[in-house]
Amino acid sequence: MGKPFLLPILTDGHPTLRKAAKKVDEAELRQPAFQQLIDDMFHTMYEAPGIGLAAPQVDVSRRLIVVDLQDDESRPYVFINPKIVESEGEVRSVEGCLSVPGMVGDVVRFAKVTVSGLDRNGKRQRVTATGLLGRCLQHEVDHLDGVLYIDKATNLRAAESEAEQAAANEGGVAYDPHVDGAHSVAS
Ligand SMILES: [Zn+2]
Repeated sequence: MGKPFLLPILTDGHPTLRKAAKKVDEAELRQPAFQQLIDDMFHTMYEAPGIGLAAPQVDVSRRLIVVDLQDDESRPYVFINPKIVESEGEVRSVEGCLSVPGMVGDVVRFAKVTVSGLDRNGKRQRVTATGLLGRCLQHEVDHLDGVLYIDKATNLRAAESEAEQAAANEGGVAYDPHVDGAHSVAS
């Protein structure tokens, strides 16, 4: 495996962000170029910095996301062909996106989701998540359908406080006393 490359992140207005991405088949998943893409996406996400990235954001219209909250409890996730198979409750919080730099908005998401898909080795995995991880997974899966959080957000605004600027990164969630159910700060 080569050294990971920094990929340009597309911003709102680019047509790839608005297309439904294609499913990845087993043969494509096993190609070195696809495995390299996964490494490149992690590298690009960490450098941004962000906590999640979907392939369409780097101009690859495939159903692939990477997520890493980079905290003590979480681990990095790769999901190929992810689907939300179970969902429960609703929570509203502040959200941002690397493809919509400097902005945040309030978005209602499921409070708890179970996501099913393949890992980078083609093995089926199921993850049940709440909080920031659950929100980030929903945000990234939306990208695969050409949906941006700004389509769902209310009170879309320029990120001002430090917490909002943190949330302006991918799928970030900021504490905001005016928003119900807001919790941890992504940094
Ligand atoms: Zn995003």
